Amino acid sequence: MKYFSWNRYLTYRNCPLRYKNIYILRKERTVSQDDYHFLYGSVMHSLVESFYKNSLWEMRKECVNTLRSQAKSFYKNLLRESKVLWHKPHRKSQEELLEEILNDVPKITAAIKKYRLLSKLVFPEQNLRADLSGYKIGGRTDLILHRQEGLTLIDGKGSKNKSDDHREQVLFYALSYYLAYKKIPKFSGVWYFRETQIDWHAFKIEDLKRLSNLIITALKAIEQEKFEVTSKRDNCFWCEYKNTCSVHEDHLDTPYGKVIEAFL
Ligand code: SF4
Repeated sequence: MKYFSWNRYLTYRNCPLRYKNIYILRKERTVSQDDYHFLYGSVMHSLVESFYKNSLWEMRKECVNTLRSQAKSFYKNLLRESKVLWHKPHRKSQEELLEEILNDVPKITAAIKKYRLLSKLVFPEQNLRADLSGYKIGGRTDLILHRQEGLTLIDGKGSKNKSDDHREQVLFYALSYYLAYKKIPKFSGVWYFRETQIDWHAFKIEDLKRLSNLIITALKAIEQEKFEVTSKRDNCFWCEYKNTCSVHEDHLDTPYGKVIEAFL
Protein backbone atom coordinates (compact mmCIF):
# COMPACT_ATOMS: atom_id res chain seq x y z
CA MET A 1 0.00 0.00 0.00
CA LYS A 2 1.49 3.34 -1.06
CA TYR A 3 -0.54 5.40 1.40
CA PHE A 4 -3.73 5.04 3.42
CA SER A 5 -6.37 7.36 1.98
CA TRP A 6 -9.69 8.53 3.39
CA ASN A 7 -11.51 6.14 1.03
CA ARG A 8 -9.50 3.19 2.30
CA TYR A 9 -10.08 4.18 5.90
CA LEU A 10 -13.83 4.67 5.37
CA THR A 11 -14.15 1.38 3.51
CA TYR A 12 -12.39 -0.54 6.28
CA ARG A 13 -14.34 1.25 9.00
CA ASN A 14 -17.68 0.49 7.33
CA CYS A 15 -16.93 -3.06 6.28
CA PRO A 16 -13.58 -4.84 6.70
CA LEU A 17 -14.76 -7.59 4.33
CA ARG A 18 -15.44 -5.09 1.56
CA TYR A 19 -11.97 -3.61 2.18
CA LYS A 20 -10.45 -7.06 1.78
CA ASN A 21 -12.40 -7.71 -1.44
CA ILE A 22 -11.36 -4.41 -3.01
CA TYR A 23 -7.82 -3.80 -1.82
CA ILE A 24 -6.41 -7.21 -0.89
CA LEU A 25 -8.14 -9.76 -3.14
CA ARG A 26 -8.95 -7.21 -5.87
CA LYS A 27 -12.09 -9.23 -6.50
CA GLU A 28 -14.26 -8.49 -9.49
CA ARG A 29 -17.47 -6.69 -8.62
CA THR A 30 -20.69 -8.69 -8.76
CA VAL A 31 -23.03 -5.71 -9.11
CA SER A 32 -23.02 -3.70 -12.35
CA GLN A 33 -21.00 -0.51 -12.25
CA ASP A 34 -23.21 2.56 -12.04
CA ASP A 35 -21.70 6.04 -11.95
CA TYR A 36 -24.97 7.99 -11.98
CA HIS A 37 -24.53 9.40 -8.48
CA PHE A 38 -21.00 10.68 -9.24
CA LEU A 39 -21.73 12.67 -12.40
CA TYR A 40 -23.04 15.89 -10.86
CA GLY A 41 -20.28 16.13 -8.24
CA SER A 42 -17.51 15.24 -10.70
CA VAL A 43 -18.47 18.04 -13.07
CA MET A 44 -18.76 20.57 -10.21
CA HIS A 45 -15.33 19.54 -8.87
CA SER A 46 -13.79 20.00 -12.32
CA LEU A 47 -15.38 23.44 -12.62
CA VAL A 48 -14.02 24.60 -9.26
CA GLU A 49 -10.58 23.32 -10.22
CA SER A 50 -10.77 25.13 -13.55
CA PHE A 51 -11.98 28.35 -11.90
CA TYR A 52 -8.80 28.54 -9.82
CA LYS A 53 -6.28 27.00 -12.22
CA ASN A 54 -7.37 29.24 -15.10
CA SER A 55 -8.01 32.39 -13.00
CA LEU A 56 -11.53 32.57 -14.41
CA TRP A 57 -12.56 35.36 -12.01
CA GLU A 58 -10.56 37.69 -14.28
CA MET A 59 -13.26 37.19 -16.91
CA ARG A 60 -15.80 38.86 -14.59
CA LYS A 61 -19.25 38.77 -16.25
CA GLU A 62 -18.14 36.14 -18.74
CA CYS A 63 -16.98 33.81 -15.99
CA VAL A 64 -20.31 31.99 -15.55
CA ASN A 65 -20.76 31.55 -19.31
CA THR A 66 -17.25 30.12 -19.60
CA LEU A 67 -17.93 27.73 -16.72
CA ARG A 68 -21.18 26.66 -18.39
CA SER A 69 -19.47 25.87 -21.65
CA GLN A 70 -16.74 23.97 -19.76
CA ALA A 71 -19.46 22.08 -17.87
CA LYS A 72 -20.86 20.80 -21.16
CA SER A 73 -17.50 19.47 -22.28
CA PHE A 74 -16.60 17.99 -18.85
CA TYR A 75 -19.98 16.24 -18.81
CA LYS A 76 -19.53 14.88 -22.34
CA ASN A 77 -16.05 13.53 -21.52
CA LEU A 78 -17.27 12.02 -18.27
CA LEU A 79 -20.11 10.20 -19.99
CA ARG A 80 -17.59 8.65 -22.34
CA GLU A 81 -15.61 7.17 -19.44
CA SER A 82 -18.55 6.26 -17.17
CA LYS A 83 -21.11 3.53 -17.03
CA VAL A 84 -24.52 4.86 -16.07
CA LEU A 85 -27.74 2.89 -15.68
CA TRP A 86 -30.09 5.62 -16.88
CA HIS A 87 -33.12 3.34 -16.97
CA LYS A 88 -33.34 2.98 -13.17
CA PRO A 89 -36.38 4.59 -11.54
CA HIS A 90 -36.36 8.09 -10.04
CA ARG A 91 -33.49 9.24 -12.23
CA LYS A 92 -33.06 12.20 -14.50
CA SER A 93 -32.27 11.67 -18.17
CA GLN A 94 -28.82 12.60 -19.56
CA GLU A 95 -30.22 15.90 -20.82
CA GLU A 96 -32.06 16.70 -17.57
CA LEU A 97 -28.95 16.08 -15.49
CA LEU A 98 -26.90 18.36 -17.74
CA GLU A 99 -29.59 21.02 -17.42
CA GLU A 100 -29.44 20.75 -13.63
CA ILE A 101 -25.67 21.17 -13.72
CA LEU A 102 -25.87 24.20 -16.02
CA ASN A 103 -28.51 25.79 -13.78
CA ASP A 104 -26.30 25.23 -10.74
CA VAL A 105 -23.09 26.67 -12.24
CA PRO A 106 -23.77 30.18 -10.83
CA LYS A 107 -23.87 28.60 -7.35
CA ILE A 108 -20.12 28.05 -7.63
CA THR A 109 -19.29 31.72 -8.14
CA ALA A 110 -21.98 32.70 -5.60
CA ALA A 111 -20.33 30.54 -2.91
CA ILE A 112 -16.87 31.89 -3.77
CA LYS A 113 -18.21 35.42 -3.31
CA LYS A 114 -20.26 34.61 -0.20
CA TYR A 115 -17.37 32.95 1.64
CA ARG A 116 -14.59 35.19 0.25
CA LEU A 117 -12.71 32.32 -1.35
CA LEU A 118 -10.54 34.39 -3.65
CA SER A 119 -6.94 34.43 -2.54
CA LYS A 120 -3.54 34.84 -4.13
CA LEU A 121 -2.34 31.47 -2.86
CA VAL A 122 -4.74 28.73 -3.85
CA PHE A 123 -3.96 25.06 -4.31
CA PRO A 124 -6.79 23.18 -6.01
CA GLU A 125 -6.58 19.37 -6.11
CA GLN A 126 -3.53 19.25 -3.87
CA ASN A 127 -1.95 15.91 -2.97
CA LEU A 128 -1.19 15.57 0.73
CA ARG A 129 1.16 12.89 2.04
CA ALA A 130 2.06 12.50 5.69
CA ASP A 131 3.62 10.14 8.17
CA LEU A 132 1.42 8.88 11.00
CA SER A 133 3.43 6.80 13.48
CA GLY A 134 5.31 5.12 10.64
CA TYR A 135 2.25 4.72 8.40
CA LYS A 136 1.77 6.80 5.23
CA ILE A 137 -1.58 8.57 5.03
CA GLY A 138 -2.95 11.25 2.74
CA GLY A 139 -5.16 12.08 -0.18
CA ARG A 140 -6.23 14.68 -2.67
CA THR A 141 -7.83 17.76 -1.14
CA ASP A 142 -10.18 19.82 -3.27
CA LEU A 143 -8.96 23.24 -2.14
CA ILE A 144 -6.32 24.71 0.11
CA LEU A 145 -6.43 28.50 0.35
CA HIS A 146 -4.10 30.86 2.16
CA ARG A 147 -6.65 33.60 2.89
CA GLN A 148 -6.30 36.71 5.02
CA GLU A 149 -8.78 35.09 7.42
CA GLY A 150 -6.48 32.11 7.85
CA LEU A 151 -5.46 28.80 6.31
CA THR A 152 -8.53 27.17 4.76
CA LEU A 153 -9.10 23.62 3.61
CA ILE A 154 -12.26 22.66 1.69
CA ASP A 155 -13.80 19.47 0.39
CA GLY A 156 -16.65 19.74 -2.13
CA LYS A 157 -19.72 17.52 -2.19
CA GLY A 158 -22.29 16.95 -4.91
CA SER A 159 -24.54 14.93 -2.62
CA LYS A 160 -28.01 16.07 -1.63
CA ASN A 161 -27.67 14.91 1.97
CA LYS A 162 -25.22 15.89 4.66
CA SER A 163 -23.42 13.26 6.67
CA ASP A 164 -21.10 13.03 9.66
CA ASP A 165 -18.65 11.28 7.33
CA HIS A 166 -18.23 14.54 5.38
CA ARG A 167 -17.02 16.27 8.54
CA GLU A 168 -14.76 13.32 9.31
CA GLN A 169 -13.32 13.44 5.80
CA VAL A 170 -12.19 17.07 6.12
CA LEU A 171 -10.81 16.18 9.54
CA PHE A 172 -8.79 13.44 7.80
CA TYR A 173 -7.34 16.06 5.41
CA ALA A 174 -6.74 18.52 8.25
CA LEU A 175 -4.83 15.77 10.07
CA SER A 176 -2.79 15.00 6.95
CA TYR A 177 -2.02 18.70 6.55
CA TYR A 178 -1.02 19.00 10.19
CA LEU A 179 1.27 15.98 10.00
CA ALA A 180 2.88 17.29 6.82
CA TYR A 181 3.22 20.99 7.73
CA LYS A 182 2.75 21.12 11.54
CA LYS A 183 -0.15 23.52 11.22
CA ILE A 184 -3.88 22.96 11.76
CA PRO A 185 -6.03 24.73 9.13
CA LYS A 186 -8.00 27.51 10.82
CA PHE A 187 -11.06 26.78 8.68
CA SER A 188 -11.99 23.33 7.43
CA GLY A 189 -15.16 23.20 5.40
CA VAL A 190 -17.52 20.95 3.47
CA TRP A 191 -18.83 22.78 0.41
CA TYR A 192 -22.28 21.57 -0.63
CA PHE A 193 -22.42 22.58 -4.28
CA ARG A 194 -26.19 22.20 -4.59
CA GLU A 195 -26.88 24.57 -1.70
CA THR A 196 -24.26 27.31 -2.12
CA GLN A 197 -23.29 26.45 1.42
CA ILE A 198 -20.10 25.60 3.28
CA ASP A 199 -20.29 23.96 6.70
CA TRP A 200 -17.23 25.11 8.64
CA HIS A 201 -15.40 23.16 11.33
CA ALA A 202 -12.68 24.45 13.62
CA PHE A 203 -10.70 21.36 14.53
CA LYS A 204 -8.61 21.16 17.66
CA ILE A 205 -5.60 18.99 18.38
CA GLU A 206 -7.88 16.63 20.37
CA ASP A 207 -9.98 16.01 17.22
CA LEU A 208 -6.83 15.16 15.29
CA LYS A 209 -5.61 12.81 18.03
CA ARG A 210 -8.96 11.00 18.16
CA LEU A 211 -8.92 10.36 14.41
CA SER A 212 -5.21 9.42 14.50
CA ASN A 213 -5.98 6.69 17.04
CA LEU A 214 -8.85 5.34 14.95
CA ILE A 215 -6.69 5.26 11.79
CA ILE A 216 -3.80 3.52 13.57
CA THR A 217 -6.20 0.96 15.07
CA ALA A 218 -7.60 0.26 11.58
CA LEU A 219 -4.12 -0.05 10.06
CA LYS A 220 -2.98 -2.46 12.78
CA ALA A 221 -6.12 -4.56 12.31
CA ILE A 222 -5.43 -4.71 8.55
CA GLU A 223 -1.84 -5.83 9.26
CA GLN A 224 -3.26 -8.55 11.50
CA GLU A 225 -5.65 -9.55 8.69
CA LYS A 226 -8.80 -8.83 10.69
CA PHE A 227 -11.54 -8.67 8.09
CA GLU A 228 -14.59 -10.10 9.80
CA VAL A 229 -17.87 -8.14 9.63
CA THR A 230 -18.82 -7.12 13.13
CA SER A 231 -21.89 -4.97 12.64
CA LYS A 232 -24.75 -4.44 10.22
CA ARG A 233 -24.18 -1.35 8.14
CA ASP A 234 -26.40 0.46 5.66
CA ASN A 235 -23.50 0.56 3.21
CA CYS A 236 -24.27 -3.02 2.11
CA PHE A 237 -26.84 -1.55 -0.21
CA TRP A 238 -24.20 0.38 -2.12
CA CYS A 239 -21.68 -2.47 -2.11
CA GLU A 240 -20.36 -3.90 -5.39
CA TYR A 241 -20.23 -7.41 -3.85
CA LYS A 242 -23.69 -7.60 -2.36
CA ASN A 243 -24.97 -10.10 -4.97
CA THR A 244 -22.56 -12.76 -3.80
CA CYS A 245 -21.90 -11.76 -0.20
CA SER A 246 -23.43 -14.17 2.30
CA VAL A 247 -23.14 -11.67 5.15
CA HIS A 248 -25.23 -9.21 3.18
CA GLU A 249 -28.22 -11.59 3.19
CA ASP A 250 -29.15 -10.65 6.76
CA HIS A 251 -28.84 -6.99 6.04
CA LEU A 252 -31.63 -6.89 3.48
CA ASP A 253 -34.17 -7.51 6.15
CA THR A 254 -34.23 -3.99 7.60
CA PRO A 255 -36.76 -1.22 6.85
CA TYR A 256 -33.99 1.02 5.49
CA GLY A 257 -32.78 -1.83 3.31
CA LYS A 258 -36.16 -2.30 1.69
CA VAL A 259 -36.49 1.40 0.90
CA ILE A 260 -33.02 1.60 -0.66
CA GLU A 261 -33.41 -1.61 -2.64
CA ALA A 262 -36.48 -0.14 -4.28
CA PHE A 263 -34.38 2.68 -5.70
CA LEU A 264 -31.41 0.64 -6.92
S1 SF4 B 1 -22.30 -6.75 1.02
FE1 SF4 B 1 -22.13 -5.75 3.01
S2 SF4 B 1 -21.14 -7.25 4.35
FE2 SF4 B 1 -20.81 -7.91 2.23
S3 SF4 B 1 -18.81 -7.01 1.66
FE3 SF4 B 1 -20.40 -5.60 1.02
S4 SF4 B 1 -20.61 -4.12 2.67
FE4 SF4 B 1 -19.55 -5.93 3.48
